[in-house]
Amino acid sequence: MFAYCNFCEKAHDNWKVDNSKLSYFITDRWGGSSKSPYEELNMGMSVGDCVDDVLYNRLLVARHSSLPLSRFVFASQIHGDNIEIISESQLSEDSYSVIKETDGLITADKNIALIILAADCVPVLLYDEVTGVVGAFHAGWRGLTNHIVVKGLQKMKDNFACNEDDIQAFIGPSIGKCCYEIKGKVIKAIEDNIPQYSEALGQKETKTYLDLKKGIELQLKSKGVRPKNISISSDCTKCNSDTYFSYRAEKETGRFCAGIALWG
Ligand SMILES: [Zn+2]
Repeated sequence: MFAYCNFCEKAHDNWKVDNSKLSYFITDRWGGSSKSPYEELNMGMSVGDCVDDVLYNRLLVARHSSLPLSRFVFASQIHGDNIEIISESQLSEDSYSVIKETDGLITADKNIALIILAADCVPVLLYDEVTGVVGAFHAGWRGLTNHIVVKGLQKMKDNFACNEDDIQAFIGPSIGKCCYEIKGKVIKAIEDNIPQYSEALGQKETKTYLDLKKGIELQLKSKGVRPKNISISSDCTKCNSDTYFSYRAEKETGRFCAGIALWG
């Protein structure tokens, strides 16, 4: 069920945050009720899977996270750069509700799980250990070149007096440089928007490959987040489509999720 979870002791080696009230997790594709090609723990409602199966899967994950599903917040994820600050008033008993036209979620409230879905894009989790503010962001190449994660960091600073020195970042599993070929306008967008972009690009013969996770790391470092506070999953979702959902490996497939919440 979980590829990473600080309560299953499957924490990332570098992301063992010293706060027993913090809960974070990345699901894998096993342990749910979805059928092929969404087997088994598909968390995505709008990929063609049976919604009852997805609801069951979400309830399973919620139960393991010790928060009711009514306190899980999902975003519509449109590869944009809109980020919403979530408070109690946006919680809904409607299991199908999502925060519309949004790819980033931030909250300073306790017991709210911010959820990002992915199947090759990068889920990024931020946590400010002083203010207790948490954020979750969805970044494919558009999110990367739209700077969604550093915009989220700025929003945490502007609204909650967060400080980059106190930020812990977890850059989750995504398609890796081994598999993610990019061309033309995407290469140009990366060159225009990523500091030290050459570190995020790779070359094999005439082909160019993008390391999304490295791009996010470079952006966070350029905004002052301490390198020692940034943890990065080494997993490529396409190479590991037996663990994660991968759009590029499978086309029609499910979504795994990343979640973060602070209990209180
Ligand atoms: Zn790969």
